Amino acid sequence: AAKMKGRNTLVVFDEEIGTRVSTRLRRTHELSEAIRRGTLEVHYQPVFEAGGGPPVAAEALLRWRHPHLGLLPPSDFLELAEESGLIVPIGLWVLRRACADAVGWDRPLRVAVNLSVRQLNDLGLVDAVRKALSDSGLPARRLELEITESTLADRRIARRVLEALRALDVQLALDDFGTGFSSLSYLQHFGFDRLKIDRAFIQPLLQPGGQAMAMLRAVIGLARALKLQCTAEGIEDAFQLRALQELGCDAFQGYLLGRPLTNEAFNALLAAPEAVGA
Ligand code: C2E
Ligand code: MG
Ligand code: MG
Ligand code: MG
Repeated sequence: AAKMKGRNTLVVFDEEIGTRVSTRLRRTHELSEAIRRGTLEVHYQPVFEAGGGPPVAAEALLRWRHPHLGLLPPSDFLELAEESGLIVPIGLWVLRRACADAVGWDRPLRVAVNLSVRQLNDLGLVDAVRKALSDSGLPARRLELEITESTLADRRIARRVLEALRALDVQLALDDFGTGFSSLSYLQHFGFDRLKIDRAFIQPLLQPGGQAMAMLRAVIGLARALKLQCTAEGIEDAFQLRALQELGCDAFQGYLLGRPLTNEAFNALLAAPEAVGA
């Protein structure tokens, strides 16, 4: 009986794996058709500077409007996109969409586009960025490319690509700063313009004093010393915002100040006279 049971259990287990594999295959196939079907969207989250006023930038964030599952965040499909290589055409689509949308905005904000490791390890990226700029008419200085530390694992290729991108005059931001394992020398080595401090450092910031405050003071001090601009992401409450302002952070992003919006809703926010934030 034990043997039987063992065998049955094995069969059930196999079926589960089979189901998971076929769901993945189906999802990958659906994703491969998403650009053509027009089910991908780019939403925009505003970024503010201290002292009030309208947003100075927006981060382009990918969404997938799945026919049955609804509006999906990147955590639901980015891994599939990376593994299948679909992230390359999808990333290109996001880049071109974001440049075109930004040109249509009521204010000349920067638009920040996230890049994946696959895109960064391909020298074709540089031509793609150049073409997205010239086709849309977006000035290069208004495009910022966000790169995570883990993306820089292959230093040699990344360095060549980043140098070529800098030569185009686009801005470079190191995203999710503090979550990777890069040495400080990375920051100068790759010539970033901006650090984005990861939400993990902002979340614990809930009261004066304490370790969270000390860590942020050090990170912001570091950015200053290296003459890098500094954006805090994931600001959800007023205490966090006030503390980051006092610590001298340059720019602020988070649900407290504005959630990601469709392009139409984002531009309506920009056009409204009361579009003042922080
Ligand atoms: P990220 O680049 O660090 O983007 C910030 C994420 O934090 C976004 O999640 C944003 O919606 C979320 N966020 C902003 N403010 C708050 C807040 O106050 N509280 C909380 N809890 N979250 C906040 P989202 O849109 O789900 O994107 C997740 C990640 O997916 C991004 O992290 C980025 O790494 C990746 N991603 C998004 N769009 C693209 C894309 O077009 N290409 C690539 N390669 N990656 C993308
Ligand atoms: Mg980002
Ligand atoms: Mg980030
Ligand atoms: Mg993050």
